[in-house]
Amino acid sequence: MKSRDNNDLISVENAQEIIFSKFKKLQSIQKKLIDSNGFILDEEINALFDLPNKNNSAMDGFAVRHDDLEINKSLRVVGRVGAESVTDYVIKKDEAMRIMTGSGIPKGADSVVPFENTNNNPHKGDDFPDVVLINEIVNKGDNIRLSGQDYKFGEIVVENGMLIDPAIIGAIASFGVNEVNVIRKPIVSLISTGNELVMPGEKLNEGQIYDSNSFALSAAISSSGAECKMHKILSDKKEDVDKLYENCSRSDLIVTIGGVSKGDFDLIRDAISSKGNIDFWGINMKPGKPLAFGQVVLNNKKVFHIGLPGNPVSSYVCFELFIRPILLKMQGIKNIHRKKIRAKISSDIFNNDGRRSYSRVSIKKDKENNYIADVYKNQGSNIFSSLVYSNGLAICPENCKVIKSGDELEVILLKD
Ligand code: AMP
Ligand code: MG
Repeated sequence: MKSRDNNDLISVENAQEIIFSKFKKLQSIQKKLIDSNGFILDEEINALFDLPNKNNSAMDGFAVRHDDLEINKSLRVVGRVGAESVTDYVIKKDEAMRIMTGSGIPKGADSVVPFENTNNNPHKGDDFPDVVLINEIVNKGDNIRLSGQDYKFGEIVVENGMLIDPAIIGAIASFGVNEVNVIRKPIVSLISTGNELVMPGEKLNEGQIYDSNSFALSAAISSSGAECKMHKILSDKKEDVDKLYENCSRSDLIVTIGGVSKGDFDLIRDAISSKGNIDFWGINMKPGKPLAFGQVVLNNKKVFHIGLPGNPVSSYVCFELFIRPILLKMQGIKNIHRKKIRAKISSDIFNNDGRRSYSRVSIKKDKENNYIADVYKNQGSNIFSSLVYSNGLAICPENCKVIKSGDELEVILLKD
């Protein structure tokens, strides 16, 4: 096969443009609220009523008229309201009503005196004393939670496009809503290829290595809000590669790992071509050069296929640059890119082959609050520790041969 120079490779931007343009927001589905955690909301949720829906007590104590309060004065106890009960009794001069947290404030009362400020203790039975002595006065309005204090009727509770989290689920549930419209999760078929690979948990024979990439990427796919269908490892044998697309037709994206380079056993590009076509192969970047992007037709449906290079760091960096953004885009998320900052490099970076490089760095701040990018000592594309150590990718431009320690580079922050 003809060897390739950098002129055959497309730029990262060009590759992103081609890939991103093929994916759009997926359909909306109805989901039980209790199962909606981690989905993107596809509707605006408005307050169906004022929340709280009534003025209520913030404490267990006595509902009173503030004007009646004096230290060491006794008030007549006229009854009791629990959190569930509603009373139409109107509190009159020198009267008090036993009231529990969350109970509606009876008419006439304007303040709540907690038990602790009186001579009364909580009484479990119905035989509570009919007088109460006030030991400590509260301010007018104290211990009353006003209706609509949390949300006013009609107000936006959750904006369209928000990521649903436990607090949001609670806020929606407060209005009695039990179902929400969300964007369905993208489904990704993830397939590792390689004669040498064995699943973690199985016995390793001579010459074999564990399939670490599919574990890392499966987690990365789930962290991006998508559903990962992990397929069985494929060997590099042609008859096995021919089975690559089995059970993939319902996926939104097929991601393979390995077998896409120029090795004797690299059959992924042939597999794509046999069922569809390749949009491009080869990006002017390091690590991650031999990424292939194409589409195949399965059961009359077009499914996109990204063939990632097998080296762990290459596949991870490519996931960050090309796959995470489309998983977010499919969920209707507007901002699909990681945050970028500028940081001073802690040690020289050499970049002699004219490709854009993504160095694994750990971002810290110096005393003046400037970002410092600590460059990991080993930048090999097989070095997993470089990813474990790092929280950023420092971008060294294509034709910049050396970045000197102290120079500034743009850095993609890998963790939110
Ligand atoms: P390939 O792209 O298939 O030539 O693989 C390049 C390198 O990455 C080889 O050393 C493979 O053994 C390694 N590799 C490929 N796939 C995986 C994987 N799923 N997990 C860990 N290492 C892998
Ligand atoms: Mg391989």
